[in-house]
Amino acid sequence: MPAKLIGIWKHKSIWLCLLLIIVTVSAGMVYRNFFVLPYEQHEKTVYAMDTQITLTAYGTKGEEGLEAAEQEIYRLEKLLSATDEHSDIYAVNHSGGSAVPVADDTAEAVAFALAMADNTGGALEPTLYPVVRAWGFTTGQYRIPSDDELAGLLSLTDYKKVLVQKNAILLPDGMELDLGAVGKGFAGDKVISLLKEQGIRSALINLGGNVQALGTKPDGSNWRVGIKSPDSSDYLGIVNVADCAVVTSGAYERFFIGADGRKYGHIINPADGRPVNNGVLSVTIIAPQGRTADALSTAMFVRGKDEAIAYWQAHRDFEMILLTDEQRIYITEGIADSFERTGRYSGLKITVVH
Ligand code: AMP
Ligand code: MG
Repeated sequence: MPAKLIGIWKHKSIWLCLLLIIVTVSAGMVYRNFFVLPYEQHEKTVYAMDTQITLTAYGTKGEEGLEAAEQEIYRLEKLLSATDEHSDIYAVNHSGGSAVPVADDTAEAVAFALAMADNTGGALEPTLYPVVRAWGFTTGQYRIPSDDELAGLLSLTDYKKVLVQKNAILLPDGMELDLGAVGKGFAGDKVISLLKEQGIRSALINLGGNVQALGTKPDGSNWRVGIKSPDSSDYLGIVNVADCAVVTSGAYERFFIGADGRKYGHIINPADGRPVNNGVLSVTIIAPQGRTADALSTAMFVRGKDEAIAYWQAHRDFEMILLTDEQRIYITEGIADSFERTGRYSGLKITVVH
């Protein structure tokens, strides 16, 4: 090297300049890795399971994760749909009473639904499909079945007669399964597991009102999840939560007004085969798993306010917000401090359940 150049390198200010560059680049990298990339938001909207699904994930792995999540939703829908002629559930419903081999996930979902049916004293009834169909909830061609028709169809419903053996399901001839009350929660759990496997630590998924959170928001704060009002036009309130599912059941999701002027909702009381009409407008369940929250929101809606509260007091492994037609909110003690009423519900009376 020429002597003149060596001289330059001996100069102090050159070293200072180099140091400054290194410090600036490193600070930029730290800033990007810790303050930009983890907050990078990725979103996807999917139409499946009879509803609009929105998926939001944060961080560098978000886009890939959501791509995989979308495929997972389609895969589960193909197994669990009662209407898709190629699904496992369709095959079981049309088996004529013989055992049908099914995928692991189908067996798991059905076994879970049967266990929750047992657990809720039959308020959740996964074999109600013939009754749900008779009211027109599967097609939108609504009608009011006669007492005789309902009595005949109810004789075809009984979860105790369904047998899940490893990877096969045995359903008596004439009976039909409907996982409408647990399928979205089950799919939500599978999607959350998949996102975790993909290295995602912060995500929020909304399967037509079933909201499931993975971790916290990227800044470490809780998610603010809105709970739809019974007429669906706005929000009853907001819950501040992390790492859990928030699932609401209500007659407002799907209903029709009969010729008699009465409102008939899509959640059926398995005891009489009629849409539930017990003074409860909506039930929100907050639980670690989507499938549990989904099963319980439907079952507690069926059981009504007093029995739902008694069930919670006996279990206490979930939280519940219940709205009645007397415009009163019943909320379990574990979530009371994390709930805010909003809009026209701000003045509603709240009873904290202990
Ligand atoms: P969800 O929106 O989770 O409360 O589920 C309601 C759906 O589950 C309905 O649209 C029916 O397909 C089905 N369903 C209605 N009543 C019952 C019931 N008592 N048990 C199980 N599934 C039901
Ligand atoms: Mg449900």
